[in-house]
Amino acid sequence: MADALLIFKPDSAYRLAARAGIWGWLASERDWNVESLEWFQPPASLIESHYDFLQGRPFFPWLVDFMSALPVVVGRITASEESLKQMRYELGETQIAKSRPGSLRERYGIHGGLNCLHLSDALETGAAEVKRWSDFVQLDQVRFA
Ligand code: ADP
Ligand code: MG
Repeated sequence: MADALLIFKPDSAYRLAARAGIWGWLASERDWNVESLEWFQPPASLIESHYDFLQGRPFFPWLVDFMSALPVVVGRITASEESLKQMRYELGETQIAKSRPGSLRERYGIHGGLNCLHLSDALETGAAEVKRWSDFVQLDQVRFA
């Protein structure tokens, strides 16, 4: 089991039907554990480094603003490589118009990159993201209902 970072983005943190639906999936802990979860407002600098590989893309300023304007729900999960892959499959594709029917993003996302949830895409990125975010927020307790 290894760490991965999960974020309810503002479009699911604040839409109760979306938040409850995703929480139902996450809390099943079918093949993973929820190790921490809490409200936290990330500074723009943290989002800029979290998404540094997207710097220069036309939507980057929008993305930083979207992710840092309000508190979001951020947490750490532990999962095996296989189960993280399965979780990413259940999450669905990045852009809503292309997200697989029945996936979380197809069901709960809104449009474009307004796609309800961040989840680390592999164990290496998970370790790096958890390390980066743990300088800002304690990732050791579930404080969410
Ligand atoms: P994922 O979240 O599926 O891992 P990426 O890591 O490629 O996707 O991108 C990070 C986030 O940036 C996406 O979840 C989405 O919010 C935003 N994003 C990526 N590509 C686009 C795009 N073409 N248009 C709008 N937003 C995008
Ligand atoms: Mg990604």
